[in-house]
Amino acid sequence: MPEKPEKNESDVVAKTVEAVMATLAPILKEISLSPEKIEAIRRPWVDPNQAETERKLREQMANDEKRGRAKNKAVQDACAKMGHRHPQDPTKNTVNIIRNFHDGQSRGICQRCLKIIQPLHWEIYYDDKDPNGRRVAIPEDEDYYIVRQLESTGANSGFGTAI
Ligand SMILES: [Zn+2]
Repeated sequence: MPEKPEKNESDVVAKTVEAVMATLAPILKEISLSPEKIEAIRRPWVDPNQAETERKLREQMANDEKRGRAKNKAVQDACAKMGHRHPQDPTKNTVNIIRNFHDGQSRGICQRCLKIIQPLHWEIYYDDKDPNGRRVAIPEDEDYYIVRQLESTGANSGFGTAI
């Protein structure tokens, strides 16, 4: 009589499977993908604080730029106070001449602080009323005398020349 226990066994298995499926059914229903869920998955994630995060980053960038400009100006002012002189040889300055500007006027650039020493010149800024722009006269840099001295000696830089 081997059939009877098998039938009982299959009944037990069937009942067990049924019970397991009964417990799994809500879970399976929960994890099944409905069209709404698929659409929600495909939708790109949007940071709810995006505007605030961007504002903070812009503010941080502006502060960094402002701090960098202030530091650069402090270095250039300190170098100008020393007359853009070479630290090991104060009889020589660290200014090189730039002669290829479009307005034909010579400029100087300090090798230590990277300050561009400019003569009196015009700069043109954007103007929404005038298509030719707004012309502004920029006064001569107070260190321009170094460029004049170099020009008068015919040197390209003050490093090789004692002035
Ligand atoms: Zn300098």
